[in-house]
Amino acid sequence: MPPIVLCSACDVVQKKAALRRRERAHCVRCGAELYRAGPVSIDVPIALALTALVLLALTDSFPLVTLKLNGTSRTATLVDAALGLYQQGYAPMALLVAVTTMIVPGLEIGLLLYLLVPLRLGHRPAGFARLFRILGAIRPWGMVEVFMLGTLVALVKLSALAEIVTSTALWSCALLMFNLSALTTLTSTEQFWTWAQGADVR
Ligand SMILES: [Zn+2]
Repeated sequence: MPPIVLCSACDVVQKKAALRRRERAHCVRCGAELYRAGPVSIDVPIALALTALVLLALTDSFPLVTLKLNGTSRTATLVDAALGLYQQGYAPMALLVAVTTMIVPGLEIGLLLYLLVPLRLGHRPAGFARLFRILGAIRPWGMVEVFMLGTLVALVKLSALAEIVTSTALWSCALLMFNLSALTTLTSTEQFWTWAQGADVR
């Protein structure tokens, strides 16, 4: 029986065709992307996850912006922003900022490295299937891009009132957003199982 693939968007079953380099297969009915020419080297997502770790550390520890108004200046980090919301009585909002921009991206990167590095070395890590399911469940809660968009809108509005100097964390946050998107694309369920089967055979 030829290998088949199920469209995740419309459930139509299709025969899997061999692709040339850089080609992508799309669903015949709805046009959704089914799979890409592979296999992707496992070194690529590991390198991206390590880069994401550095970017997340920079985003969480350096100032996002400096506001200058009437001769005084105020610098804020991401942690300051969450703490500020908490101190002003917006505890649920502070929790949401901390979870979606710090805790979930940190967990996601940690889980990816825990799963990918042993596979690269030729064996499945303990709890592989369960941790992969947890990774899939927490991913939608990482919202660095939403935070970035909200921050940019706020900065444009504030620029009419005060001088705004963007700092290290804002740039690292922007890079982290692209990095996490690339990681999500490269570590699809199908791709993960291809690597896991390769590790079992070795
Ligand atoms: Zn489809």
